[in-house]
Amino acid sequence: MLESRESSRLGLPAQQDHVSQAIPSDVTLRVKALESLLVDKGLVDRAALDRIVDTFETKIGPRNGARVVARAWIDRDYMKRLLTDASTAIEELGFHRYQGEDIVALENTPKIHNLVVCTLCSCYPWPLLGLPPVWYKSAPYRSRAVIDPRGVLKEFGLDIAPDVEVRVWDSTAEIRYIVLPERPAGSEHLNEDALAALVTRDAMIGTAKVTFDVRKESA
Ligand code: FE
Repeated sequence: MLESRESSRLGLPAQQDHVSQAIPSDVTLRVKALESLLVDKGLVDRAALDRIVDTFETKIGPRNGARVVARAWIDRDYMKRLLTDASTAIEELGFHRYQGEDIVALENTPKIHNLVVCTLCSCYPWPLLGLPPVWYKSAPYRSRAVIDPRGVLKEFGLDIAPDVEVRVWDSTAEIRYIVLPERPAGSEHLNEDALAALVTRDAMIGTAKVTFDVRKESA
């Protein structure tokens, strides 16, 4: 799978968290030093910094995007608004664009599969998906998603049929994309909460589909 392979290529062993707890990286030390300096000089308030970090760690994440997708699946009018003006539609559900970027929703259909990348750096719809995964920021994903999208999707375990068009969208500082995945077969009776629980981060980037195991539910 791309995730584990890219991780090893990037020199991130499985024990990375334990190692970094013992010896902070250069970047971590630099950030700490900068933070202390700014706080000492009274330029930033530590409580405000804590609130910002807490917001991104606990309040913003893929569950927000999943709520948007689930609402679109159960409410046709909301889906239309989302596909026409996603920036406004997400605010209806209380999700704000902190960086002033425009959000565009891309609808997957039986004939079109959308895949999102940022070839330049790591632009990502933070208000809906939280922080980007490591592989999204890696050079191999950023280049190969454009050169060989079907090959990349295959490594994620997604075989896209030859008659399905794959569209690759390059994010920018101004425009961020979220994929509206296809609602899985057999999920017609599920309510909004149950549908939201099915939606994964990768499905909203376009490297996965949303699946629903009917057998598991009836077991
Ligand atoms: Fe970027």
